Amino acid sequence: MANLGNPRNTVEIIQKHGFIFQKKFGQNFLIDTHVLDKIIQAAGITKDDFILEIGPGIGTMTQYLAEAAGKVCAVEIDRNLIPILEETLAGYDNVTIINEDILKVDVAALAKKENGGRPIKVVANLPYYITTPIIMGLFESKAPVESITVMVQKEVAERMKSGPGSKDYGALSLAVQYYAEAYLVANVPPNCFMPRPKVGSAVIRLTRHREPPVEVADEALLFQVIRASFNQRRKTLQNGLGNSAGLSVTKEDVAKVIEDMGLPPTVRGEALNLKQFAELANRLEKAD
Ligand code: SAM
Repeated sequence: MANLGNPRNTVEIIQKHGFIFQKKFGQNFLIDTHVLDKIIQAAGITKDDFILEIGPGIGTMTQYLAEAAGKVCAVEIDRNLIPILEETLAGYDNVTIINEDILKVDVAALAKKENGGRPIKVVANLPYYITTPIIMGLFESKAPVESITVMVQKEVAERMKSGPGSKDYGALSLAVQYYAEAYLVANVPPNCFMPRPKVGSAVIRLTRHREPPVEVADEALLFQVIRASFNQRRKTLQNGLGNSAGLSVTKEDVAKVIEDMGLPPTVRGEALNLKQFAELANRLEKAD
């Protein structure tokens, strides 16, 4: 099958099947061979690897993945793309296509069934409307995900890499830091896609830590505290956490913990780094 990284081949297959792009599925297909090569290289794929691809589209990146990896499993929500994928991937016997919403797939069970529970790598040009739930879902699941190399909106890549004091800093930055090491592979302009997205994009590689960089007694509580702090970004931690419905701590408990940590009473969540959030959660757990 012709290389779909060539825009002419992409147009040809789309016209042949009368495919209509669905905005609601975030369909922007890659049409740049250099970007595709870069993604494959950044993901560090070998013939021993099992790759989960999210949203293969017409199979452009899937062709590159199938060449480099041992096995590829691609999950695509749009059933209109399935006959196209059957055609564009017909030459590969190491690719499985699943017609499903990735948010409904049990990735841990999939890794067990298809790869004997060994670590898997996720590689994708993600649908931008669900980037955060996909990445958080992969981290929070018990799936053995070793790395995630993905195309995301440029602004989301910046949020993942930012720290206290930056306007981009938030719950996603902290979650990514807790679970992984983030590396910005490349910025990608809109003309590398068909149709062109309105925003700039970036490829980011998240390599999962063997152990989280901070110790917490209750991981769920840490993320509750983080979410509550950034949900009410303009409030002080005392007011934000003390009034949060999901947390069973009083404003007085929070005030005491903040004082014990040597922080000013007016401190806001956006000023705390991951280590401080971990300490805050550990102290709140004891105060509970
Ligand atoms: N990988 C292709 C490429 O690079 O050309 C397509 C990438 S496009 C940005 C995102 C793809 O994800 C589309 O094919 C879209 O139909 C698919 N998609 C959207 N939502 C999905 C979901 N919830 N589960 C699985 N696939 C989804």
